[in-house]
Amino acid sequence: MRLQMKVHNHPGYLFVFCGLDGSGKSTQIALLEQFFSRINMPAYITKQPTDTVRNSAIFRTYMNSSDHSMYDYRALSLLCASDRIQHTNRDIVPKISQGRVVISDRYFYSCLANLRARGYVKDRWICEVSSFIPKPDAAFFMDVEVDTAISRVRSRDTEENRFIDIELQYRLREQYLDIAHENGGIIIDGSQSVEEIFQKVCSFVMQKLCKTADGR
Ligand code: ADP
Repeated sequence: MRLQMKVHNHPGYLFVFCGLDGSGKSTQIALLEQFFSRINMPAYITKQPTDTVRNSAIFRTYMNSSDHSMYDYRALSLLCASDRIQHTNRDIVPKISQGRVVISDRYFYSCLANLRARGYVKDRWICEVSSFIPKPDAAFFMDVEVDTAISRVRSRDTEENRFIDIELQYRLREQYLDIAHENGGIIIDGSQSVEEIFQKVCSFVMQKLCKTADGR
């Protein structure tokens, strides 16, 4: 079952980036932000899930430890889905309805990828609830080898010793690729140089900006 997000008719644009930690999302988002500033269309940069979820005990337990016995993953997934719906409809949509560009670090696709990567492959609710939010104008899926992503995360000063479920990263990568194929996402080979990647991202973004001049 595919996600059921709805194509939007707002005058603004929503661009989102998904992929493993260390796949290069923040790097490309920062470059795209600079690009939009240069063309006098200052973008609103945001991320999902919001800090409300990131700071919750259930989220922290899943991120920081291998012992998940206290919590049911579906409960976390529902919490994240709820947060994404609230954040999308009360933070992102008002901005694109005013004609602004919004760039989000992760979007609903990540919720589905995480759920499926943990074995919940038949949960239809996640696709059904996605019908309550708009489909982005472009969803970039940054794809890198798991080893590359992990070594990039480990090279960050504060994350040298961070808990990473390596097996999960392999399943997540697979899910991101499947989800991109199923939902019209743009898969970007994240092993190229930062500049090469940005050229590709930028050319998709510009195609969108030109196309929508004649209607979406
Ligand atoms: P994410 O936001 O997906 O976790 P980041 O953009 O923070 O990933 O990148 C993780 C690390 O990898 C950072 O140190 C960044 O400088 C580096 N990095 C990002 N893109 C590339 C690239 N194309 N080639 C080499 N290193 C990269």
